[in-house]
Amino acid sequence: MNQDTLRRGPPPRKTSRSFPKIVPLPGGLYAERKRCNRPNCRCASGGEALHGPYLYRRWVEDGRLRRQYVKAANADRVREGLAEWRRLHPPARSARELIAELRWLFRQVEMEEV
Ligand SMILES: [Zn+2]
Repeated sequence: MNQDTLRRGPPPRKTSRSFPKIVPLPGGLYAERKRCNRPNCRCASGGEALHGPYLYRRWVEDGRLRRQYVKAANADRVREGLAEWRRLHPPARSARELIAELRWLFRQVEMEEV
């Protein structure tokens, strides 16, 4: 095997390994600002003096609202996961839309039968 053969080999697939697959995540990302309730802390005056913002992902699981702290360094990855979940789970159409569509389809059938 000479140098030319080596150079013509398949290109290294480094990219796919350095970008792990996005994990779909339900829910949304929310920022919270907090009061620690220590009487002499700056946060007692509220507004911009509050602690944070801290990021949390909130989602519903088994009918219960769940909350998970998200480190700022992980915020972008969590956002990608949330977007991926929404892509995989488009919002269900409302019952009213479905009924309207069924009525429309039913009319089409009637028209064909006449
Ligand atoms: Zn405080």
